[in-house]
Amino acid sequence: MIIKPDKLKLFRKTKWRLASWYISGISLVLAIIGFGVYEAIIHAHRITVEKELKTVAGTLHDNFEIILDTPGKLSDDVKQFFPNLCLVDSSCPSLDNISNYRIGTIDNGQYYLQIFDLSHHLIAYSRNYPKGLSQKKQPDKKIIITDNQGIRYLQQSHLLHTNTGENWGYLQVSRSLKDFDNYLKMVVLILLLGLPLAIILIGISAWILTGIAMKPIAKSYHQIQQFTADAAHELRTPLAATLATIESTLMISSLTENELRNTLETLRKQTKRLSSLVSDLLILSRLDCPLNTISTTSIKKEKICLNDLISDLVKEVANFAISSEIILIPDIRVSYPLEIIGNTEQIYRLLFNLVVNGIQYTPTGGQVTIILKQHNNFALIQVQDTGIGIDNKELPYIFERFYRVDKARSRVRGGSGLGLSIAKALVLAHHGTIQVNSVVDKGSLFMVKLPIGRNFRS
Ligand code: ADP
Repeated sequence: MIIKPDKLKLFRKTKWRLASWYISGISLVLAIIGFGVYEAIIHAHRITVEKELKTVAGTLHDNFEIILDTPGKLSDDVKQFFPNLCLVDSSCPSLDNISNYRIGTIDNGQYYLQIFDLSHHLIAYSRNYPKGLSQKKQPDKKIIITDNQGIRYLQQSHLLHTNTGENWGYLQVSRSLKDFDNYLKMVVLILLLGLPLAIILIGISAWILTGIAMKPIAKSYHQIQQFTADAAHELRTPLAATLATIESTLMISSLTENELRNTLETLRKQTKRLSSLVSDLLILSRLDCPLNTISTTSIKKEKICLNDLISDLVKEVANFAISSEIILIPDIRVSYPLEIIGNTEQIYRLLFNLVVNGIQYTPTGGQVTIILKQHNNFALIQVQDTGIGIDNKELPYIFERFYRVDKARSRVRGGSGLGLSIAKALVLAHHGTIQVNSVVDKGSLFMVKLPIGRNFRS
């Protein structure tokens, strides 16, 4: 199949457009999913970190309150229980004097502690407290603050009471979000690298898939174009002949009655040819459309007795066979009426095309036989002739529209190359099959198989 460059351009453009829409759609969905995953990770981590901070701060708060007595004053007990606390008015104790197990949570590098009196003055802080982080008492709710290096901290304050229930001061616990932020950075990096990679892969597969999807469209586009060009060409021939006849007649000043009759006879032939061509095209276009009248209830579906139909057909074409000096033999091999469900007119047309072809393509003295038999649930109708036959390399194409093995010969015989394509379309509309066997100079055998008692396309 050759498609011209301008059509190629049209299909390439459409392919591009389809692929781009596909890529944009999928990319948008991926971006939304990526964003959703990112947000879900942030949310899950934040909840975990907040819970952790709440637990640590709560435990420290409870431990402190047991040993606090005078508001704003740290007792020796506190200094003993939390040896790694640095007091504002004295230097931090040396770690050498403190056993490892007593350093505990507040010096493990993630949690930082500050103790304020009731007037928000800093009294003590944990040894590991980051240098660049604000030392101020923050509001009593969870907040996120940033140190001078850009590291984020989640901070929470608790009011402390003495062991007698008096207000003592405040405990402020901070937790570094550095590990959390680093993890998020990794997630962002993976998403940013993964998304374009996924889009590239989607783009490649979209291009391939659109190409596959476009193939049948391109094929049927080509077929429609070919069909239109062939139809126009076929219609032009009788129209040109009609025009030529009219023009040449008009040039003659006075016509005898005989000349007038001859002219009208020529015009009648051309018009007949034109009209049969138009009705063939109409049949084909109706059969092409699954929702049109052919397949719906407006077309009569009935029981067709093939025995009767064949004998009617033989009667109708008998004269044509006699004038062509062809012996026409009906060979009914069933002793009962063989019935199918379908449209009588269409089945008649199908067999008519095959039989007329058989007569037309069989030289004088030859024979055309119409055989009717049953095979399982199918009626088999065979049209066998002893004619010119069809070359093996032509066989795959003879059911194509406007295809003629010998164009000149076929046209002289009045053929348009639509007979077999109509026959095939009618067989398919009745859920049947059509096959052909042929040997050049020996003859052809057309075999039609139609289901018995089955409704046609509905
Ligand atoms: P046409 O109107 O030309 O007969 P058809 O579609 O009926 O068109 O047939 C297509 C071509 O198949 C014909 O041009 C002819 O060459 C070939 N053909 C059809 N029937 C026969 C046959 N019985 N014997 C030999 N050739 C045939």
